[in-house]
Amino acid sequence: MNEARLMSELQEFLHFIDGSYRPSVSGKTFPVVAPATGEIYAVAHEGGEVEVNAAVSAARSALNDTWGALSIADRTELISSVADEINARFDDFLEAEIIDTGKPKSLASHIDIPRGAANFKMFADTIRTISGEAFETSTPDGAGAINYSVRKPRGVIAVICPWNFPLLLMTWKVGPALACGNTVVVKPSEETPATATLLGEVMNKAGMPKGVYNVVHGFGPDSAGEFLTSHPGVDGITFTGETRTGEAIMKAAGTGVRPVSLELGGKNSAIVFADANLDKAIEGTMRSVFANCGQVCLGTERVYIERPIFDEFVKRLKESAEALKIGGPCEEEVSLGPLISAEHREKVLSYYALAREEGATVLTGGGKAATSGLSRGGFYVEPTIWTGLSDESRVMREEIFGPCCAVTPFDSEEEVIARANNTKYGLTASVWTDNVTRAHRVARRLEVGVCWVNSWFLRDLRTAFGGAKASGVGREGGVHSLEFYTELENICVKL
Ligand code: NAD
Repeated sequence: MNEARLMSELQEFLHFIDGSYRPSVSGKTFPVVAPATGEIYAVAHEGGEVEVNAAVSAARSALNDTWGALSIADRTELISSVADEINARFDDFLEAEIIDTGKPKSLASHIDIPRGAANFKMFADTIRTISGEAFETSTPDGAGAINYSVRKPRGVIAVICPWNFPLLLMTWKVGPALACGNTVVVKPSEETPATATLLGEVMNKAGMPKGVYNVVHGFGPDSAGEFLTSHPGVDGITFTGETRTGEAIMKAAGTGVRPVSLELGGKNSAIVFADANLDKAIEGTMRSVFANCGQVCLGTERVYIERPIFDEFVKRLKESAEALKIGGPCEEEVSLGPLISAEHREKVLSYYALAREEGATVLTGGGKAATSGLSRGGFYVEPTIWTGLSDESRVMREEIFGPCCAVTPFDSEEEVIARANNTKYGLTASVWTDNVTRAHRVARRLEVGVCWVNSWFLRDLRTAFGGAKASGVGREGGVHSLEFYTELENICVKL
């Protein structure tokens, strides 16, 4: 595959409703741009109330009929077949994901697509082995009672997705939703409609009943996103995206008192103590700052280095950043792709300018990246490292979501914990140290949902995932996903 061939055909992304592909009744479409080249490579249909109504109604019918009637064994077998079918069409998903996001092929082939399949397998396995609770209760007449719990599907789930890991983050929600017996209506990001659309073909091939998985394309406000989250036929909303959007969705969910699961923004820290293995800390911090061009919610934007190793750490981080190869997804050995859109590039560049205004020393980067050939029109920026920013600067407080970080020294454990926690966000942190006692002590005092020690983005899908503070509501992963995707009923039987 090469990018020239990818660009030669204009694709069309239709909605996937009740098992078949449909255009918008309004005829409205919007362009889809390949970030690696800046060219329009497809059009997507924009869903309105008609499409959202049709999708919610198809999801409800499947819930009450075909899907709802399946045993757990049959349901989970079908879900496992979806994973097998994604793997069978691995190259199609890979091609779709890299043209939509521009991310390096090496990244998408190791993370996005395999995780897309694993999300179905893992939750099918979890549901097969889940058990409930039971209590024997004493009663005054001596006969007693038995209490036991059953978990039931919540109903029709709206799944609203971002663009940074389109297949991975969408299936992270669709996998457990279906495994728990719900049906879904997915609204993919307007930037990345490809893999959610392709998944419709996989659902049909795997034999999934019509209406279990539906996709409506469009934007947020006054478009498919808002119509879906405010639809009274939706029983729960799971969302990944910006904190500001999460607030709007929480308000929409308030009508009808519908539950939400929110995975939101972050301003994550890495804390490197002087006793850390420096090679590993540099390698891990490089990944946590620059992977996916810094467009990872778990990524590091604040790096705190214990003063004795500050100069050496900064020198080596700068050298490593300058060695990153920038380019399109299919270029050899590329480690830094483009940002998702021209608009997002403007946002990141505005923070590059703000950092200078706020007194930063720019160690490396700070501008647009020069690219050539097919990549000339893509949305590339330079990997950027700053020192000299105060903790109160906007660059140290606001989520940028680009390939950049601010590095700053610290002198004591107490000081660094307070500074790391000095943010409205609370998604993740990484602590680098060879002192095991300190690792445990610091990790539990950080106000985050996930803390890695001597690693970053090491995920076991059975573990709880989510954010503290403004980084989210609820936890997903393993059995924790059951809290949102099922309704727990207690049955009390008087003997
Ligand atoms: P975004 O909030 O702009 O958009 C996410 C989705 O919400 C899109 O599909 C969009 O169309 C939709 N949307 C927007 N407004 C809406 C509204 N009013 N009603 C309903 N839907 C609406 O986020 P993004 O730019 O796509 O993604 C980047 C953000 O996602 C970053 O803040 C990042 O930190 C966050 N993120 C968080 C996690 C996590 O697990 N915590 C994971 C990935 C990304």
